[in-house]
Amino acid sequence: MPTLLTPDICVIGAGSGGLSVAAAAAAFGVPVVLVEKGRMGGDCLNYGCVPSKALIAAARHAQTMREGEAFGIGAVEPEVAFGRVMRHVHEVIAAIAPNDSVERFTALGVRVVQAEARFVDDRTVAAGDFEIRARRFVVATGSSPAVPPIHGLDRVDFLTNETVFDLKRLPSRLVVIGGGPIGLELAQAYGRLGSQVSVVEAMTPLGREDAEASAVVIAALRAEGVAILEKTRVSSVERHGRSGVRVYVEGADGTTSIDGTHLLVAAGRRANVEGLGLERAGIAHDARGIKVDDGLRSTNRRVYAIGDAAGRLQFTHVAGYHAGLVARSLLFRLPVREKPGIIPWVTFTDPELAQVGLGEEEARRRHGTIRVLRWPYCENDRAQAERRVSGFVKLVTTRRGRLLGATIVGAGAGEMINLYALAVSRRMGVRDLAGMVSPYPTMAEIGKRASIAYFSEATRKPWVRGLVRFLQRFG
Ligand SMILES: Cc1cc2nc3c(=O)[nH]c(=O)nc-3n(C[C@H](O)[C@H](O)[C@H](O)COP(=O)(O)OP(=O)(O)OC[C@H]3O[C@@H](n4cnc5c(N)ncnc54)[C@H](O)[C@@H]3O)c2cc1C
Repeated sequence: MPTLLTPDICVIGAGSGGLSVAAAAAAFGVPVVLVEKGRMGGDCLNYGCVPSKALIAAARHAQTMREGEAFGIGAVEPEVAFGRVMRHVHEVIAAIAPNDSVERFTALGVRVVQAEARFVDDRTVAAGDFEIRARRFVVATGSSPAVPPIHGLDRVDFLTNETVFDLKRLPSRLVVIGGGPIGLELAQAYGRLGSQVSVVEAMTPLGREDAEASAVVIAALRAEGVAILEKTRVSSVERHGRSGVRVYVEGADGTTSIDGTHLLVAAGRRANVEGLGLERAGIAHDARGIKVDDGLRSTNRRVYAIGDAAGRLQFTHVAGYHAGLVARSLLFRLPVREKPGIIPWVTFTDPELAQVGLGEEEARRRHGTIRVLRWPYCENDRAQAERRVSGFVKLVTTRRGRLLGATIVGAGAGEMINLYALAVSRRMGVRDLAGMVSPYPTMAEIGKRASIAYFSEATRKPWVRGLVRFLQRFG
């Protein structure tokens, strides 16, 4: 007989989203059960953001050594000890893991059940030796790598984000299927560590981003030697040699093949909804994930879905944002509404590409007449000193100057976007940005200069010039 637990809240999945809901509930003394079938911390800590950013950091060190010449420091080809690079990656995971551990959450007052959860009816979840009947459930089961139906893929060994951080030896030739953020971040990192990398993308690489900004990233990766094949479809794969792969691709130039020692599939994500017994609980879902309303409630009013499982923007900070909304609804019964338009995101290539709010095209479609304000990195003194002159800040505003969105491509774009995330969420205008005093010399001044560009038209208006001349008469 399973043991019956009757907490107020049951959270399924201990990733970025689930952990935050559980911690919030426990902080207010609300009984909460957290069910996790795998590693605490979910994808972000174990197979996603953390290991990828740690790998990218190591790769950047390697690249810095190659690029000393411009500073008068002899460039050297780094000796990459791949085993030690991977040790660094796992040390970073280990340093963060205690924050997400069973011990910490138990100490916070959360009952952690380490088992796979599935709904048995509309208000009960079974997990290991327990049955959990809660007032409310939060499904935060995340997502998994989508594996495209490519002929032969089931007969070769391939890597995904779940295995690529466990490699023991540096791939000498890595073929990446998928030119999205995950594929390109890893392609550049492995390239910088010494792999020969080819990326195959069926559509346009970074196709969801501002085209002008993604062109800067693609050019940078190509300049470093990453081969990026766009509008090229993988038709089949087969084993090649003892442990390699041959990837057949079809593009504008016809069919050709690429040989690799390793194959990485980074072709999108699918929400983890299978095996959850959603039908038994009356929870509707589709190919994207669990269907939720603006308050993140599913078709079963007792059940919320958050983070990657809700099939919207799939980022750690979105899972955290969802968790905050759901916590407010669960704990204080306040009405909540997700505002997708305030969510920023970053592709952590070098240069980084960051976006918040509307892109130029979308803004034009929705608002008709808009203002597009730009400033390039090469016009910034700090960027010149650092020799990081490629990229730009682009601000999109209404005619009257309210900020609709910001696109930044260049060094530190991921840090710089924070200001614009605040500005978009608070409906600020270019006057607010232009009135801010930025310390000199910082790259953040690039965005300020872009916002000042809004007023440059005024310097050409005859009546404004006339007014200035008139005022000069008064001494
Ligand atoms: C390579 C890579 C790099 C990334 N980099 C970034 C980045 O830089 N920035 C960013 O914001 N995002 C990044 N992401 C995305 C980010 O990792 C996810 O958006 C985030 O982890 C989603 O959090 P979540 O809580 O929804 O799900 P997860 O973190 O995936 O957690 C879900 C948890 O639920 C558990 N679970 C699933 N089913 C069950 C079940 N039936 N019973 C019990 N437990 C279950 C899983 O084991 C898992 O631990 C990256 C992703 C990848 C793959």
